[in-house]
Amino acid sequence: MPQLRIAKNAGFCFGVRRAMASVERLLDEGVRPVYTLGPLMHNPDAVKALEARGCVSQEDISQIPPGATVVLRSHGVRLEDEQALSLRGVRVVDATCPFVKRIQAMAEAASGEGRRVIVAGDREHPEVRGVLSRTRGLGEAVSTPEEAALLPPFERPLVVSQTTFRPSRFQEICQALRSRDPEIVNTICLTTEDRQREAVEIARESDAMIVVGGRNSANTRELFRLCEAKCPRTYHIERARELDDIIFQPKDHIGITAGASTPDGIFEEVVTRMSDIEKQEQVTETQDTSTDFASAIDETLVQIRPGQTITGTVVQITDDEVCVNVGYKSDGLVKKSDLSSTDVKIGDEIEVEVVKVNDGEGNVLLSQRNIVNRKSWDAIVAASESGEFVKGVGKEAVKGGLIADVMGIRAFIPASLLSLRYVEKIDEFVGQEMDLKIIETDKAKKRVVASRKAVLQAEEAEKKKAIWETLHEGDIVHGIVRRLTSFGAFVDIGGVDGLVHVTDLSWARVGHPSEVVSVNQPIDVKILKLDPERDRISLSYKATLPKPWDVAGEKYIPGTIVTGKVVRIIDYGAFVELEPGLDGMVHISQCALTRIAKVEDAVKVGDIIRVKILSVDTEAKRISLSIRQALEDEAFESVNTPQDAADEFAIDEQPAEAEAPEAPEAAEPAEAPEAAEAPAEE
Ligand code: SF4
Repeated sequence: MPQLRIAKNAGFCFGVRRAMASVERLLDEGVRPVYTLGPLMHNPDAVKALEARGCVSQEDISQIPPGATVVLRSHGVRLEDEQALSLRGVRVVDATCPFVKRIQAMAEAASGEGRRVIVAGDREHPEVRGVLSRTRGLGEAVSTPEEAALLPPFERPLVVSQTTFRPSRFQEICQALRSRDPEIVNTICLTTEDRQREAVEIARESDAMIVVGGRNSANTRELFRLCEAKCPRTYHIERARELDDIIFQPKDHIGITAGASTPDGIFEEVVTRMSDIEKQEQVTETQDTSTDFASAIDETLVQIRPGQTITGTVVQITDDEVCVNVGYKSDGLVKKSDLSSTDVKIGDEIEVEVVKVNDGEGNVLLSQRNIVNRKSWDAIVAASESGEFVKGVGKEAVKGGLIADVMGIRAFIPASLLSLRYVEKIDEFVGQEMDLKIIETDKAKKRVVASRKAVLQAEEAEKKKAIWETLHEGDIVHGIVRRLTSFGAFVDIGGVDGLVHVTDLSWARVGHPSEVVSVNQPIDVKILKLDPERDRISLSYKATLPKPWDVAGEKYIPGTIVTGKVVRIIDYGAFVELEPGLDGMVHISQCALTRIAKVEDAVKVGDIIRVKILSVDTEAKRISLSIRQALEDEAFESVNTPQDAADEFAIDEQPAEAEAPEAPEAAEPAEAPEAAEAPAEE
């Protein structure tokens, strides 16, 4: 029963697939026609299919109208063609394979230093012509070791190869040039190597071998040649229908491979047809063994493994990726999205992490971001452990908080930890740089939680500490009233709040702080007590004001008449407030012009009255007042004669002393209101 063995490394290579994608994208966008400088690939059917969609292969640049769109093939083009296209004013989409671009760049750089460039390959191949065109006339192409041996004795030439060149031939050529101390760079594309190696292995073990691809494709012809050397019954076909002309034996083991420019569709068609012919669908996938290709040059190449961090040199930059030479047999590709910074240029040395040694298309996949992320994670975890603050930038408002970028890592800040106060509009933090404290990390879940509030709290605590250090008990400091409560007023004294208790607001009795101060009022206060443990500062406003009793002796002269307010009535008299904190007493005998039974017959609490100062004793804090004498004096003054005064006031002759108990002007201290007495601390 025949068995099919299908090569894994068959069909479009990375470069051709990429060029094809460029053309198809333009066609999808409605660009018509899309020109290519010559066929995009060496497969007539695939080229025809593209032509049907509006792709035109044109070798002659003068036939391409200005303004048209031209895609450069994966092989690349000559420098002069590039310049001619530019002069013609066409839009160029460069789909040159990054591996080819790299060879062009190396050739350009070496010839710029005046060195010879030797390209091992077919001098008529577009890729080789493109490379030679960039050598300032210092390039040579050789396809055999004999040709190489005939070259003049160049000093330290650069030796590169066509990407699809046969590896064994390249080694022979290098050997032939060894005496010239060449700089040898193996630029054979790994895709080609892999394809050829696998095809040879399959061919060796097969009774018949089928190579699918265009007959004008150099790499398909080379593939055919290699397979034929191992399996005499090797057939080169372009389409599945050609299988009808081949006779297979029932017990044949049949291998199938395809050149780099063979579309997947054609290859699949061949495989399907083979299955139909043999009525057998037993397909064995090949194993990727790599034993028969170990050249001396390869042995000098570095070994790489996924996860390894290596340093490489940027050799090519395209719109989507950066090609990096890491010393491996094939270059690595870093997608732009995997770069930590797009600020890279050719020649830069960058650290990269190997993501995959082979992405399935022969490319080494690299990432720069992985390294940065790893370093960032380490830094974030360290900051989390040490409590050190990190910088972050608000990126996006999400449900329940804000996402911030911290060293390239997304960190979540819950809304409650964004500020010291409630945040209404989280959006306002987007784009804002802020200091953050890392409060939770979970690398496995890629979770970082941060707090801005913790930073603000720490800053506030620092500020407070600094302020506290400047404060001393007994100091008079300036402040602003911030808040009033029933028990006092909170005053901001330069960043910290202290409390003025209601009893410390005034020398007088105060019902509510609003009777003395108002919010935002600037006032001077005295620091009574500092309690850092409890974070409390006791202040006094009244201590900054003069004590009423200290000046009472000068202010209230016996014999003068002043205005006061009745604030309290007792059996034998009334207390009259002359000013906040300073009360005097009117004995019942001095409350009216006539004799009264009780004080309320003359005055009531709240009355504003005129009183005469009888005596002032600042030591005992007593002021004796008289309503009666004030009335008499004022009446006397108004009538202006003593007789008028006598007529006006029929004064009861009964002496006050006889009616009232011995009631000196001074109200007894025990009865006097607290407000009239000096506070205990005085
Ligand atoms: S064979 Fe290699 S170098 Fe050539 S186009 Fe394909 S991927 Fe690029």
